[in-house]
Amino acid sequence: MYEPLLGDREKELLAECIDSGWVSSEGPFVTEFEERFSHYIGTQQGVAVCNGTAALEAALYGISVRKGDEIIMPSLTIISCAIAALRLGARPVLVDIDPATWNMDPTQLEAKITSRTRAIMPVHIYGLPVDMDPLFECASDHDLKIVEDAAEAHGAEYFSRVKGDRWLKCGNMSDAACFSFYANKIVTTGEGGMVVSNDPSIAARVVSYRNLCFHAEKRFYHTELCYNFRMSNLQAAVGVAQLERIEETIALRRSFASYYKERLSSVPGVHFQAEPPNARPVYWMYAIQLDEALGADAESMMRHLKDKGIGTRPFFLGLHAQPVLRKQGILAEEPFPHTDQAHKQGLYLPSGLTLTRSQIDVVCDAVHDIVQEGGNGSI
Ligand SMILES: *Cc1c(COP(=O)(O)O)cnc(C)c1O
Repeated sequence: MYEPLLGDREKELLAECIDSGWVSSEGPFVTEFEERFSHYIGTQQGVAVCNGTAALEAALYGISVRKGDEIIMPSLTIISCAIAALRLGARPVLVDIDPATWNMDPTQLEAKITSRTRAIMPVHIYGLPVDMDPLFECASDHDLKIVEDAAEAHGAEYFSRVKGDRWLKCGNMSDAACFSFYANKIVTTGEGGMVVSNDPSIAARVVSYRNLCFHAEKRFYHTELCYNFRMSNLQAAVGVAQLERIEETIALRRSFASYYKERLSSVPGVHFQAEPPNARPVYWMYAIQLDEALGADAESMMRHLKDKGIGTRPFFLGLHAQPVLRKQGILAEEPFPHTDQAHKQGLYLPSGLTLTRSQIDVVCDAVHDIVQEGGNGSI
């Protein structure tokens, strides 16, 4: 399903860590990775943490989210977004997706704003930038913060009218943004994450939260409960090596995506994520959604592909349908039909960086055959 691309440069920098003895977060690659990654995104500050989930929580702490605050987020996302809010005592408030882009539908935002709303957390799903201009306007009208979840969108760009008619990278459009460097993300450190921001005071709060909130003057004196979210030098070394190749990685993802699209364009009832003209996506995953008219849902397609030796993954289950969140009774009881539909009909095809065109051919032929057979009533 996904194999990362790791090479000699990663080995070389890891060997430097071993030879020098610097393995913890005190090592020099952590700062180097923070500087290089934030420079790539275009922000002034970067704070490396141990994973993307921790980055989301630290970023919300960074913007001073407090107990009772409400954070607006899409219903189609990983549970990490909800966890980040809940751990700070805040409440996730969900917005359904746009059925064509699978991203948060900005037209539903306004109706969700209350006096407790503190921030909007857009998620650039599968590497496609959210339509941010309506969010910028809404945030400025209601004095809200924006924290991007850019865990799947390293290098993706959005053309903003509101921010002066220019292309901006995901992660450089808000008060603070979060990245993941998990093994299947566009840049990986095995496990890892980063909060980027242009606000030094937000970054300083994230730095403190990452490291147990040590008191500035008195060592081992704590006035707040925080965590150890530090990234090790070993992880950062891999990140530095990965970042040297990011443009090639993105070019590869784009070329595979267009090849998949070309090969599957003739298969009826198979749709890709829409690509609005103001977005330059990076295709974290090659995701498809099946028409209900095909008579097949994602589960049956996945089962058939598995029988042919092809690994796939389902879409996220909507946050509104997560038993652990429902149990807490913190979510409003309301329908999220587009999220349910995407979950039921959507899947990712093999998306690794070591794929070859002939492997993509095998996958596309298999999808084609399954849809054909489905026409004969066998899906
Ligand atoms: C991967 C991911 C995360 C969490 O990152 P981890 O490093 O796995 O904790 C958060 N949000 C989104 C949208 C993701 O895809």
